[in-house]
Amino acid sequence: MTNEPDRISFDDLVSAIEAKLTAAGASSAVAKVLATNCATCERDGTLSHGVFRVAGYLDSLTRGWADGAAEANIDIVGPSYIRIDGRNGFAQPALAEAQPQIDQALSDTGVAVIALRNTHHFSALWPDLESFARDGRVAMGMIASGKLAVVPEGATRPVFSTNPFGFATPVADADPIVFDFSTSSMSHGDLQLLRAEGKEVPVGTGVDATGADTTDPNAILDGGGIRPIGGHKGALLSFMIETLAAGLTGGAFTFEIDAEAPEGAHTFRTGQLFIVIDPERGGNDAYLARVRGFVDMLRDAGMDRQPGDRRYANRAEAAERGIPITDTIRSLFD
Ligand code: NDP
Repeated sequence: MTNEPDRISFDDLVSAIEAKLTAAGASSAVAKVLATNCATCERDGTLSHGVFRVAGYLDSLTRGWADGAAEANIDIVGPSYIRIDGRNGFAQPALAEAQPQIDQALSDTGVAVIALRNTHHFSALWPDLESFARDGRVAMGMIASGKLAVVPEGATRPVFSTNPFGFATPVADADPIVFDFSTSSMSHGDLQLLRAEGKEVPVGTGVDATGADTTDPNAILDGGGIRPIGGHKGALLSFMIETLAAGLTGGAFTFEIDAEAPEGAHTFRTGQLFIVIDPERGGNDAYLARVRGFVDMLRDAGMDRQPGDRRYANRAEAAERGIPITDTIRSLFD
């Protein structure tokens, strides 16, 4: 518990979100997983995917667009290959349901390829990936995220979503290194936050409905589009992510789900692919120490800001003082 009036403890925040989700029709198991995920993002400073997202979850639940009580179908299609049909539920609870099968695949073969379809993913990828790394696994993940938003050079309309990609590795005697980013110049969530604050974005972030560069988040979000990171290279990363997270999993490509989603929907029934590897399999026992040496070399060379540093610092502060209460958090108690 926190004694500071403008702070809330992690557990209290989880309970408040859980209550909202349960009241909107989520099962207690689903509400627990989603609330923990949301509160984790808020605590660690990923505000674009924290409590800000609760309204979108509630909208999908109350209009029946997502099934908050879905139980996933889990198929073992090979010793390392797990296909999950989320049956129109959310991705994180489906992944949690498959944890015993994932553990089994890792123990038997050292690798788990996890292909989810018919699943809504409305959060950051790093919480899913960090938990694999905390168990000593290397993990990567990607999402066909659902909202047609990204216009590559040459295209006259959005053809990709912001298609996030994430990676996590354990490191000897340190927190895991975990990074996770959209393959667009800016995530949709950050653009929405900047719009709400009336702020402009840098040139190159996106285009308006006529295809001209703009610094106005309204023009990008309403009829325009976001640019990929790194020009054609980011566009090709999105191509790969759509192909694996939708094509391979059997989930919907962004262009398909965007057309199917009801007006104003916030969450999207798409697909996600995770690849998880036991790095010490086969006697590679030096892996953790070697990665530690690599990270130490990077810091020594001046790359002293590593992915996760900001989140772990926020987490440590929240553990001591609680999570800062924003208006969005306050609204959970209305
Ligand atoms: P950010 O640009 O906020 O962060 C990208 C990553 O880079 C983070 O891991 C961050 O670590 C790290 N990082 C930032 N600055 C540095 C630096 N100077 N040196 C080294 N590492 C650095 O990501 P985005 O805005 O692109 O994406 C935000 C979130 O949106 C992601 O978590 C993504 O999963 C989510 N998303 C979800 C979608 C969905 O459909 N569910 C769709 C699109 C995005 P740190 O965290 O420590 O700052």
